[in-house]
Amino acid sequence: ISWNSTQMCDLQGKPIGMMCIGEDITARHAMERMKDEFISVVSHELRTPLTSIHGALGLLVSGIVQPQSEQGQRIIKIAAESTESLVRLVNDILELERLESGKIDLIKKIVQVQEIMLKAIELVQLIANRAGIILEVTNQNLEFYGDCDRIVQVLTNLLTNAIKFSERGSRVWLDVVQQSDQILFVVQDQGRGIPSDKLETIFERFHQVDASDSRRKGGTGLGLAICRNIVEQHGGKIWAESIYGKGSNFFFTIPLVKADEINN
Ligand code: ADP
Repeated sequence: ISWNSTQMCDLQGKPIGMMCIGEDITARHAMERMKDEFISVVSHELRTPLTSIHGALGLLVSGIVQPQSEQGQRIIKIAAESTESLVRLVNDILELERLESGKIDLIKKIVQVQEIMLKAIELVQLIANRAGIILEVTNQNLEFYGDCDRIVQVLTNLLTNAIKFSERGSRVWLDVVQQSDQILFVVQDQGRGIPSDKLETIFERFHQVDASDSRRKGGTGLGLAICRNIVEQHGGKIWAESIYGKGSNFFFTIPLVKADEINN
């Protein structure tokens, strides 16, 4: 508690007492600490691609390296990739901030599970083909009340991760089942897996299993935090299970559509 005191006087200026106001600043301190931590992580994440763009352009501008030379072309490619990752990072930061502060309204309507599963598969098929991953889907005729595009976003995010962290020739499964009044979506891979002590922290912003994941795999460490926010805004839960070295399963639930929602 932070105390502020003021002396109180009567009309003649004679002290008659003290007024003390106490403010509970625990929450404010926690917010400030979170903000500081966020700024320090963000600036670190921004600095990495910015440093390589700066270095690359410096070499070209000074004439040390000719743009048409082999080395020049390599440097230009690095700068272009770093720019892409900066754009991805800034977009993800803004999106997560807007989701967390409630600035993005979900557009809810009755959604057919079959439809969104097909949409998500269509969006990742090319990435899977390029990575040599076989996608397997089982579908079911279920409905929920929610934001179609946002749930497709969660599915594509989980599928892209499953593909990204798997070896060529392995399989990724997308399944959906009904469990009492919930729809359970499962994305399963045979990839590198996740250590048990990281299974929860990976859903926090910027948490990656390996510090080099963003550089090597092109991620931002924000995808799962965005997924968690979207799923929770639908009244569902998201979690991961894994056998390290053998693969991972990502699960999320969305409540089944209720009768009164169908009538609306
Ligand atoms: P990123 O943009 O880095 O993929 P995410 O928030 O989507 O960010 O994931 C956070 C981290 O969780 C990843 O960097 C990776 O270390 C780990 N991860 C996520 N999905 C998988 C998976 N299917 N297999 C192994 N590790 C995963």
